[in-house]
Amino acid sequence: MNLSVIGTGYVGLVTGTCLAETGHHVICLDVDANKVKKLSSGQITIFEPGLEAIFHRNIKEKRLHFTTSLLEAVEGSDIIFLALPTPPGEDGSADLKYILNVGEELGKLMNKYKVIIDKSTVPVGTADLIRKKILLNSKVEFDVVSNPEFLREGVAVEDFMKPDRIVIGTSSEKAKKLLEQMYAPFVRQGNPIIFMDERSAEMTKYAANSYLAMRISFMNEIANLCEKTGADVEMVRKGMGSDTRIGKRFLFPGIGYGGSCFPKDVQALAKTASDYQYNFRILDSVMKVNALQREVFVQKILQRFSNNLSGKKIALWGIAFKPNTDDIREAPSLYVIEELTRRGVSVVAYDPEAIPNATAYTDDKSGINGNVKCFGCS
Ligand code: NAD
Repeated sequence: MNLSVIGTGYVGLVTGTCLAETGHHVICLDVDANKVKKLSSGQITIFEPGLEAIFHRNIKEKRLHFTTSLLEAVEGSDIIFLALPTPPGEDGSADLKYILNVGEELGKLMNKYKVIIDKSTVPVGTADLIRKKILLNSKVEFDVVSNPEFLREGVAVEDFMKPDRIVIGTSSEKAKKLLEQMYAPFVRQGNPIIFMDERSAEMTKYAANSYLAMRISFMNEIANLCEKTGADVEMVRKGMGSDTRIGKRFLFPGIGYGGSCFPKDVQALAKTASDYQYNFRILDSVMKVNALQREVFVQKILQRFSNNLSGKKIALWGIAFKPNTDDIREAPSLYVIEELTRRGVSVVAYDPEAIPNATAYTDDKSGINGNVKCFGCS
């Protein structure tokens, strides 16, 4: 099939590259001309284990191309993926401007039947909004499908190639058949494709991420209580996690969740709830506990040094929001760096992959740049 992916970030580049690996011809588009130039010259723009080899192989086999031209991406493709940002707006809602603007442009350029697949994380009802935007200009038949992405940064290739399940929200039989065919190589081992309506698919993604975030906040509360009561949270975690009803994953206490997904997705789901006059009490607590947890950590450092950090030099191990990624978006480490430097600490931070992003961040932030040194492996 001929496919195109609009937005070549973490999700878009992994999606495009992995689909090319199964024999499809893929064009990845981005508005960032510099990114497209790098990718076209064979330079990968994100760190993701296993991605680089597949990326080079598919460029060599001429199955993977990069462009800034929407016309080129749309003209020949049967299926168009949207892997665009949905950052939080000021009120916590997902900002849909990137998706809806592209939707409007697509309508002008579509020349034959297309399936537009939304991979971005979007609130319930967005597929309908995209459809309306396309209809403003389109003269051809098309379907808009919600196909939320569940890959995890750090293991994104494995997650994409061998997903636990693929969720597809569509009411179109034609789109369903096309997607079954396209995803067939990814579900050979019996992992299911779960078909549902668009709204349920959109909600599934927010429900999954918010549930995982809730587990993290719950364990952070248990950890805080363990410290007060003399219990060992590591043992509690093991004891709980071996119950098959609970499972071992997402039970690790720490300094709170970060990254480009959980914080914004929990916030966006809370906003959807309030738009529908529903008081989603658990989500409010999940967010409060998460915000407090990084402060708990800073307070521990302060206590250790009798509330005086001035002139201290502190090493910080790990900047990215989790291992095996260069992504520092919403990383709790950034909060810790800011709080420490504000109190007169000079920070020496180490991360094996995130140094370019971390350096760009600290260079941008006045007040902390002179007080932070970042080191990586190379
Ligand atoms: P990203 O910021 O890494 O990538 C988005 C890309 O879109 C960027 O390269 C940007 O330059 C490009 N872009 C912006 N406007 C554009 C336009 N008008 N036309 C073409 N390209 C444009 O974002 P991401 O992490 O890949 O996330 C994309 C979506 O997928 C979000 O909704 C996110 O919530 C969701 N998601 C992310 C992950 C993850 O782990 N990163 C996992 C699942 C779902």
